[in-house]
Amino acid sequence: MLPNTEIAELLAHQAERETGILSRAFRRAARSAFLWPEEVSDLIEQNRALTELRGVGPFIEKQIQKWIEKPPRRAKIVPALRQDFISLAEARRLLAKRPAWSKKLRGDLQMHSCWSDGSGTIAEMADAAKERSYEYIAITDHSKGLKIAGGIDERALKAQGAEITEVNVAIRKSSLDLTVLRSIEMNVNPRGEGDMSAESMMDLDLVLGSFHSSLRTTEDQTERYLAALRNPQVHILGHPRGRIYNFRIGLTADWPRVFAEAARLDKAVEIDCYPDRQDLNVELLKLAREQSTRISLGTDAHHPWQLEFIDLGLAAALRARIPADRILNFMPLVELQAWTERVRDRNTSKT
Ligand SMILES: [Zn+2]
Repeated sequence: MLPNTEIAELLAHQAERETGILSRAFRRAARSAFLWPEEVSDLIEQNRALTELRGVGPFIEKQIQKWIEKPPRRAKIVPALRQDFISLAEARRLLAKRPAWSKKLRGDLQMHSCWSDGSGTIAEMADAAKERSYEYIAITDHSKGLKIAGGIDERALKAQGAEITEVNVAIRKSSLDLTVLRSIEMNVNPRGEGDMSAESMMDLDLVLGSFHSSLRTTEDQTERYLAALRNPQVHILGHPRGRIYNFRIGLTADWPRVFAEAARLDKAVEIDCYPDRQDLNVELLKLAREQSTRISLGTDAHHPWQLEFIDLGLAAALRARIPADRILNFMPLVELQAWTERVRDRNTSKT
């Protein structure tokens, strides 16, 4: 059987041999392969068309069928740019074997709404969360420094807060048990500084801090991570490496030191579950486990349907054997809120 992860690699490899529109089609299909909900081999067994899969047209379908019939000699080494990504089909197979694991999940701690570069309203994101029987979600729109992603300033954040309150009131009226948390994906510069006023961050339930600049440097970035973690406003370090499948390898650091510092400050590092991020990946998660660092799962969803990406993070955490008590999203809401308060108190009382 040729699993989707290997088909992805063949597609990405083929893209490098083609040019123009064909190259782009292969590249797109490779990226999409991580999102296909079922293994291609199962589809073929059931005589289903591969064109029902995202990113697959008749031409790519024919190419994949050829590979399935006569598997090419495996690409010896997957380039680092594409290493350690889990496919959704693989994740679901893994999770199906351990149903108790997914049942612990109570919420999703990174998603975007139409307040920044997402497509859904707060209410639509909440509806998608209700369908998944979540206890809470955190709305983490981009902050003002990230103009390209429609980052919001303090004023907009306040207005968004009023909308979130309204949505929560409506949810409570329908006697559902879901809380929309006020959060943000605060843009953090390489010196570890955020771009929002400290007061506006105090109004939020939870603050994610993420790097979005100087992500291609190859020099050791340990100091940058330590500075971001020591930023008193930050609870969770979002998509820590900044890697993107087949596009950017992400930053390097003395990871045991970074994770140890996060653990000392009782802060969390994220598994950004977006298929072409998967950041942290399994290899680094194992290092985080050794330092007993808290882990946060966030889909980084930009559309309501993308909440399903959570399976990639659940599978990565399972594969890295992260203990359940280290995962923020397994906490009941009150416990999560107690943690955010504790982290905040600890950090602000020191200064
Ligand atoms: Zn981000």
